[in-house]
Amino acid sequence: MAKEKILVVDDNREILALIADYMLKPNGYVVSTARDGVDGLEKYRADKPDLILLDLEMPRLNGLGVIEELHAERSETPIVLMTSHGSEDLAVTVFRKGVRDYIIKPVDTDELLVVVEKALVEARLRREKAELTETLMRTNRDLEIRVKELNALYGIGRSVTSMLDLDRLLGRIVEAAVYITGAEEGSLLLLDEGTNELFMRSAQGLDEKYAREFRLRVEDSLAGQVIQTGEPLLISGASTHKVKTAYLAKAILYVPLKTKGKIMGVLTVDNRVLDKDFTRNDLFLLSLLSDYASIGIENARLFGQIENERQMLEAILSGTDDIIIVTDESDRVILMNKSARCGFDLSHVSVTGSPLEDLIRNQELFALYDKHPLPGAANRAEIPLSNGQTLLATLSAISGIGRVAVMQDITQLKKLDQVKSDFVATVSHDLRSPLTSIRGFADLLPVVGSLNEQQNTFLQKIQRGVGEITNLINDLLDVGRIEAGMDLETQPCDLTEIVASSVEKFRTQASERGQNLTFLKPPMSLCVQGNKTRLEQVVSNLVSNAVKYTPDKGTIDVNASSNDQFVVVSVKDNGIGIPLAEQPFIFDKFYRVQSEETLGISGTGLGLSIVKSIVEKHFGRIWVESEPGRGSNFVFILPKMGDALSEVQASAA
Ligand code: ADP
Repeated sequence: MAKEKILVVDDNREILALIADYMLKPNGYVVSTARDGVDGLEKYRADKPDLILLDLEMPRLNGLGVIEELHAERSETPIVLMTSHGSEDLAVTVFRKGVRDYIIKPVDTDELLVVVEKALVEARLRREKAELTETLMRTNRDLEIRVKELNALYGIGRSVTSMLDLDRLLGRIVEAAVYITGAEEGSLLLLDEGTNELFMRSAQGLDEKYAREFRLRVEDSLAGQVIQTGEPLLISGASTHKVKTAYLAKAILYVPLKTKGKIMGVLTVDNRVLDKDFTRNDLFLLSLLSDYASIGIENARLFGQIENERQMLEAILSGTDDIIIVTDESDRVILMNKSARCGFDLSHVSVTGSPLEDLIRNQELFALYDKHPLPGAANRAEIPLSNGQTLLATLSAISGIGRVAVMQDITQLKKLDQVKSDFVATVSHDLRSPLTSIRGFADLLPVVGSLNEQQNTFLQKIQRGVGEITNLINDLLDVGRIEAGMDLETQPCDLTEIVASSVEKFRTQASERGQNLTFLKPPMSLCVQGNKTRLEQVVSNLVSNAVKYTPDKGTIDVNASSNDQFVVVSVKDNGIGIPLAEQPFIFDKFYRVQSEETLGISGTGLGLSIVKSIVEKHFGRIWVESEPGRGSNFVFILPKMGDALSEVQASAA
């Protein structure tokens, strides 16, 4: 502990020397002396002693006078009075004026030291208390400042996420920067990449005109230095710094504004008049604020981008004739475009948030929504409306949102398709009669007279041509009938038998070409609910194709089996195969693979489309696995009769 200072005031030189030099100094105290009250007060003011030993009787100003003065000055320095016998009463009366104790002359060393120590202990305690109070107050003040800073940061933090008005947000950030650093002025400068200049986006404490016209070249300014280095800049000290021509500041703090590692501006505070430097803490706080500003600017940019996209989408949605409905995961409407509202007569109804089924009562639409498309896939259905229109709806999933249905009005297309089908049916039908005559008379020709070789060749060509046209017409009529759902009365049938008899029809044709056609009959019957004639057509078409597209001496294996739900039939050949790129189209009407291998093989391109239609009308599926040069395997599945069938039919209904 630092040595304690004691002021001894007495007009008696010997007593002064005795007390100071022999009693106090040897015991480690720093002693100063005064010869009377006036001298004593001066020494007190100059030395600020920890204790005063005060004589009562003195020239100029006596002890009482000194006590009065010190009391008036609100001195807290303890006083020990040195009295003579008989003046104890007086000492008692001055206790309330700061006198701690008294000692009676002649002074005894031990007694003096006890009294001094006692008074000093008290003083020490008082000083410690005062120091503690001071520390507490300082901590409180610091805390208040921290709370102020935190409040400002918290307010800005909230604004960043809630405030969409960027000007206001940046204004608040600069305001907060000035507030928490106690600066005179502050500003937020953004980089104009075109001109490589900084312009003032927001300012506080600066003249408005000045702020508006402010332009700073990056190459020759302090703020520009921050842009170039990406490091903050803290300038302090007594000297005045030139920020810009004719603009001087005493203390400056710059922090860079970064988004995604790119520096796009500077947040700055400065003092022009005030001799107050900025601290590392100010730098830290300003860096936080600059992060907020960066987030705000980035948010505003993203918001602007989203808003543009939203407007673009809105224009597309309201401009298109397609009906678009977006629903959430519980099929509540999120968005319905203008066409959808008009189409479903919902123009004057609030639709957002309503369950779709409350708004649109349509069985086909319900059925479509009941089938959930796999991610990335879409379900399609035709939706007939009560006003006679037909919509083609495509329903797809939007991950994390729900589903979107896009519907096109295909009423006209349906009508055209019907007209086309009617036309084809009529023409096909009308062609049949003359063809029957041609075929009949052609068949009769060799009967009515012998033909020479050339005539025979011509006749065979006529018969083959007539046969091809007849096949085409039959196929065309079939397509029309199957698509219209005609001739599709179903009954339980054994697919094993159907496959066996269909295979048998091609036995001769296959053996003529040296092909090995096999069908290993399964031991059990494979029951399906179906139309026997049509199912025979399916197997016949597939086996016929296998024979057609497999070279002589090839093999064709037909198989039939079943699993829990389905009956599975496959027709596998080791023929010419189908290129992968062609495989998606071979089930389309009139599609034929054009290649060297298929060149001489006749066909209508309708067989597989008929097969697919029939399989689908039976709630089944068909697909092909094939490799050019190695062969093809056509597989179709049909629901097994029983529970599975009723389930599949029910779900498709
Ligand atoms: P097509 O009357 O031409 O045989 P399909 O509709 O039955 O018409 O078949 C469409 C096309 O698919 C055929 O033209 C042929 O290119 C191809 N194709 C069908 N089956 C086979 C098969 N087993 N092997 C190779 N190609 C085949």
